[in-house]
Amino acid sequence: MIDSFGRKIDYLRLSVTDRCDLRCRYCMPEGGIDFSRRDELLSFEEISTLSKIFSELGIVRVRLTGGEPFIRKDIMQLIRSIRSYYQSFNITTNATKLHLHLEELKELEIHGLNISIDSLDADKFKQITRRDAFDKVISNIYLAIESGFKVKLNVVVLRGINDNEILDFVDLTRSLPVTVRFIEAMPFNGSDGNKDQFIPFTEILAMVEEKYLLKNIDDRAPSSSVEYNIDDHLGKIAVIPAYSRSLCGSCNRLRLTAKGEILNCLYSNSSLSLKNMLRSGMGASSIKQSILDHIMLKRKSGFDEENQRSNKDFFEPMTTIGG
Ligand code: SAM
Ligand code: SF4
Repeated sequence: MIDSFGRKIDYLRLSVTDRCDLRCRYCMPEGGIDFSRRDELLSFEEISTLSKIFSELGIVRVRLTGGEPFIRKDIMQLIRSIRSYYQSFNITTNATKLHLHLEELKELEIHGLNISIDSLDADKFKQITRRDAFDKVISNIYLAIESGFKVKLNVVVLRGINDNEILDFVDLTRSLPVTVRFIEAMPFNGSDGNKDQFIPFTEILAMVEEKYLLKNIDDRAPSSSVEYNIDDHLGKIAVIPAYSRSLCGSCNRLRLTAKGEILNCLYSNSSLSLKNMLRSGMGASSIKQSILDHIMLKRKSGFDEENQRSNKDFFEPMTTIGG
């Protein structure tokens, strides 16, 4: 699948639920959201049918996300049934339930686990996630590393909240074989946005460079992050310019929300409901053609997508879009 700017789309972010056991302040309001009813979500059978379609269209990499993927009942059954459609299979998780599934994930050759952790301090973690899960998350991060998974730690950097921990997170990479990825806060919090707390990736890098010499890893593969090595450190660091949107030129992503809509970009609010197509009995070849047509609407950058939004003052929660 090639879009109208010549970008090859071969990576799918597949959201399996909008529910979560945490309430991260940058992702959704304290009281949660109007969560989808079960019949509004794609069923496992529908996700499996769509996975076959996507793989035939050239999607080779998938990342399961949500909401929290491991909150969805019988999620391992889904992973088992769609695993073979994708060459590379990764999961983004808050890790609260990871210990229950590590062994089977290993057997299924799940390549990587991206684990969200925004503070190394239990109280601060609770302040950000509004839940008391720090000890479980930390112990599951160590379990995942010991089990041999490729682990990336996702840290959303929030001004005045956890920006004083950036160097502590970098210190983790001295002895742990993980990539710590600092993510710019995006406005998608189910309200009017996280704009006061946004810190640009350039500022994050400048803070790290006050103490460390960073060596850029230019592997030229399309990626949402820019990675760096630090001498003598086992792990790496990376920045994700999610709000500055400086990597849109090499974007290779398509998103499928838990409710079965495809989105060309996080900042886009025009979607196409594959769920409606499946439920109205449309055949695979017509669905494929609709996906190809939709991809041709992908705009050059996230800024172009944002400019088309009908409501510029309200930002959907990330848990609904699928992070
Ligand atoms: N629940 C899982 C988790 O937290 O890892 C997966 C879903 S979550 C929506 C996926 C990623 O999006 C997480 O790394 C989270 O930190 C990030 N995220 C959520 N809201 C965000 C926002 N407003 N800005 C930047 N990143 C955000
Ligand atoms: Fe849940 Fe992930 Fe959103 Fe936090 S970022 S509330 S863990 S979906």
